[in-house]
Amino acid sequence: AKDEGRDSFQLYQATMNARSLEHLALETALHRAISRAELLLHFQPLVEVGSGQIMAAEALLRWQHPQLGVVAPADFIPLAEETGLIVPIGEWVLRQACEQHRAWRASGHSRLRMMVNLSARQLRDEGFVDMVSRVLADTAMPAAQLTLELTESMLMEGSGCTVEVLERLRTLGVRLAIDDFGTGYSSLAYLKRFPIDELKIDRLFIRDIERNSGDAAIAEAIVKLGHSLGLRVVAEGVESAAQFAILSAHGCDFAQGYHFGRPVAAAEFPLPD
Ligand code: C2E
Ligand code: CA
Ligand code: CA
Ligand code: CA
Repeated sequence: AKDEGRDSFQLYQATMNARSLEHLALETALHRAISRAELLLHFQPLVEVGSGQIMAAEALLRWQHPQLGVVAPADFIPLAEETGLIVPIGEWVLRQACEQHRAWRASGHSRLRMMVNLSARQLRDEGFVDMVSRVLADTAMPAAQLTLELTESMLMEGSGCTVEVLERLRTLGVRLAIDDFGTGYSSLAYLKRFPIDELKIDRLFIRDIERNSGDAAIAEAIVKLGHSLGLRVVAEGVESAAQFAILSAHGCDFAQGYHFGRPVAAAEFPLPD
């Protein structure tokens, strides 16, 4: 039994070492990812429910790792947040998204909006608002066409995301959305306190909307709540015409999901006519 204990300890140590090594290697690789141009953005369309027209693109980060292939954000954003690398990476994302928007404007798509995800760590960074302001100026981005997406947890007390930072962003003219709405600790008081423009209903509530009357009720309630506060409401993860029909009946403003288009490289983005 003694040996067994030692063996499992050694096994434990070996696993830990492999994990830290993996972690370290990934961190080093992520560090180089920007300079080696391994990061890229995919864009997913958002459609206006009433007209069916594509009216925005959400920028979604991808990492083209030389050995691992395409790494999904869920597999490296937590590490980027932990190490602080999300600050330079987030700036790269914003700049790249605004550059892409400029290219689309130049080809005549002047009404398209751009949505960019933020992480909590970025908002805590002292220079964040100045960075956004600089990127907008450098890329001649019309601020009103940019929406920054935050999550509910980022609005929580103590998360460092103050009303003041969001007010300053709003002063620049950008719009703010709450992503994955309904999944976090949504104290509805936050909706009043923070200068928010849009709510994005998490796809968790959309997935079973046809069968689950609870989910359907929640989605409907979020649309009503949003509208009563003067916010626009987006449904995420819409995968079928049937789901879209229900959301349309509930008066949801915008929809996003595989039913309209997956995230794709800019060259494949389904630009509106
Ligand atoms: P998110 O912001 O909620 O983005 C939506 C995610 O759902 C994307 O996954 C998208 O590909 C996926 N999706 C879209 N439509 C559907 C659908 O109809 N069905 C299903 N099953 N999935 C759908 P992705 O690209 O893997 O991104 C995952 C998360 O990583 C994002 O969730 C966001 O939180 C984060 N992320 C992505 N890019 C960035 C970034 O540039 N910065 C930061 N901070 N986070 C990012
Ligand atoms: Ca998002
Ligand atoms: Ca989301
Ligand atoms: Ca998310």
